[in-house]
Amino acid sequence: MGGEAILHIPEGINFDCTGCGNCCFSWPVPLTDDDFERICSLEIEGVKKEPVHIIKTCAPASPGQRAFTSALGKRRDGKCQFLSPDNRCEIHSQFGEEAKPSMCRLFPYTFTPTPNGVYASASFASTGVLYNSGRPLAEQKPHLLRTYELFQKLYSELAPDWNGLQLIDGQPLSFNEYLVIESTLLAALKEDTPESMNRRADKILCALAKETSKLINQKRDFDKIPGLETKPRTVDSLLINALLAAYFPDDVYKENSCEIDTAQLARSLVAPPDKVLIKFAGSTFSYGDLNQYTLAALDAQSEGLLKRFAYLKIFSKLYFGPGFAGLSLVAGLNHLATIVSLVRIVLKLKNITRKAKGHEIPFEEVAECVRMLERRLTVANYSRETKTMLEVLLSGAERSERISMLAS
Ligand code: SF4
Repeated sequence: MGGEAILHIPEGINFDCTGCGNCCFSWPVPLTDDDFERICSLEIEGVKKEPVHIIKTCAPASPGQRAFTSALGKRRDGKCQFLSPDNRCEIHSQFGEEAKPSMCRLFPYTFTPTPNGVYASASFASTGVLYNSGRPLAEQKPHLLRTYELFQKLYSELAPDWNGLQLIDGQPLSFNEYLVIESTLLAALKEDTPESMNRRADKILCALAKETSKLINQKRDFDKIPGLETKPRTVDSLLINALLAAYFPDDVYKENSCEIDTAQLARSLVAPPDKVLIKFAGSTFSYGDLNQYTLAALDAQSEGLLKRFAYLKIFSKLYFGPGFAGLSLVAGLNHLATIVSLVRIVLKLKNITRKAKGHEIPFEEVAECVRMLERRLTVANYSRETKTMLEVLLSGAERSERISMLAS
């Protein structure tokens, strides 16, 4: 590993490839020039490589993505052309791991450089990570170090600026002050402590956001939006609709970017309709529908997944500041609490739709919801307006608490 960087590895996170082939399905695989040249030159047995399947792209790459100059096309069934019928990568099988596209070698790992070293993480778009199957990341340090070298090459321009952190909009927070707060957050989300074991992940996150809010110097009612008369529950519903549309779209594979329709949200906040209905998967639900329906308790495996998801977002710092949309720490925590609640709300809405009152939710369904959320968060690229909107709507702990109640 170049330089003096220290690699921090999360506890309790396991991963080994399960061979499910899911990450080789409908997931855009960007290629570097080297990947392109190498793959074009390979004679891969059993694969009829057609030129159309490797696309040289002319689209201007976004900052931080400049290493990627083309992308792998997909077969008609949405799978990568190099995926065998038994879900093996033919490039890997015939030429070894190093021959695969860089992005395939990197997945599902990711890294967050900070002034305190580099934080390793893994994507919940991966089945192995969702199921926490395989070896602990802590036992994979040599592999993680090699993968970090690859990450550095691919994202050489990535240099998150941790200088401008804020506890809440207008109140600065140094990185060292943040690390002290973070140790409390991580301890509360550890799966194996008695305090964490019997509590829902969204409830723990709401409590952490509330506790962190106590550090705000200027006390004011963050639940009230200055100059806006719209009732708090109406604002909750409008925000839920905007987040459901962004994170749980009807077709998660259709678009490779995720934005919130901030202009529409702003119009509705100023002049809300008489009755705001929650919209999901072509159906509408009232706030009362959600309030009256109680979601059956999720099993320990599902709750464990939601806690690991929250833990890893906090460990890797991908939920606030340069890690996510430039949000302040308090707004980032409330956003994290809200999206974990949103997973439960989606499960609830699905149960209401199929009239499965009291129906226990299988782990597989929870895992697919988390996978979809992770895919959308990975491609979220929020405008300044969206960041401002989320900051305003999620500065108060009351909103994330009400949404968590709705997710019960
Ligand atoms: S190149 Fe191999 S690892 Fe990458 S998406 Fe295709 S089949 Fe999967």
